[in-house]
Amino acid sequence: MILVAEDDAGSRTATRMFLQRSGYRVGEAADGPGTLREASLGHYDLVLLDLGLPGLDGEEVLARLRRDGALPVIVLTGRSEERERVRVLDLGADDYLVKPFSLPELEARIRAVLRRGQPAPPSSRIERGDLVIDRTAHRVELFDRQVDLTPKEFDLLAFLAGAPDQVFTREELLEHVWGSTQDWQDPATVTEHIRRLRLKLESEPSNPRWLHTVRGVGYRFADVEPQNATG
Ligand code: CA
Repeated sequence: MILVAEDDAGSRTATRMFLQRSGYRVGEAADGPGTLREASLGHYDLVLLDLGLPGLDGEEVLARLRRDGALPVIVLTGRSEERERVRVLDLGADDYLVKPFSLPELEARIRAVLRRGQPAPPSSRIERGDLVIDRTAHRVELFDRQVDLTPKEFDLLAFLAGAPDQVFTREELLEHVWGSTQDWQDPATVTEHIRRLRLKLESEPSNPRWLHTVRGVGYRFADVEPQNATG
């Protein structure tokens, strides 16, 4: 989840909507104290910090974020002097973007920072946009509502989502999820479970957002919502 800390409501909203379309969950803050308060809640993976926030100097916000934990920070600023950039990086920012910047570039920087910060242990929670899979609680939520899945549907979804963008054949899924081989369980079992998962999770089962068919190979769980999803 990403915290967008920006006092300009227009660019804050544009950034939030762009990131949400890219599959991120997003929270917002409009001033310095609000940013620290949100960040302290502990459910963010990264902060986009506008350096010109009211209420508290942006560098002070950055320094406190750094003091309080290891939350990655990308600083957004209108000032482009090298002195400024060096200072911000010295204060512990992970990256730095000068306004105006393009949203796709911002997203690329976010991905790079998150990747750098993550040889993280496999979390029991997988969040992909509005889909939340809690492996400990065996619970799946879509748009904040619980989805009823059978145990095998859950296992299959959790397995695929735990290795995003990796393609698995039906035989591999039988082996990993069912603990079976095709000698005694039909690969069509996998097909049928994928079909039912799509009906329960996808708004357009024939044009899935998460559970993709890789023709002639198998299935993969899409990491980030692609621009042109294909079944
Ligand atoms: Ca500002």
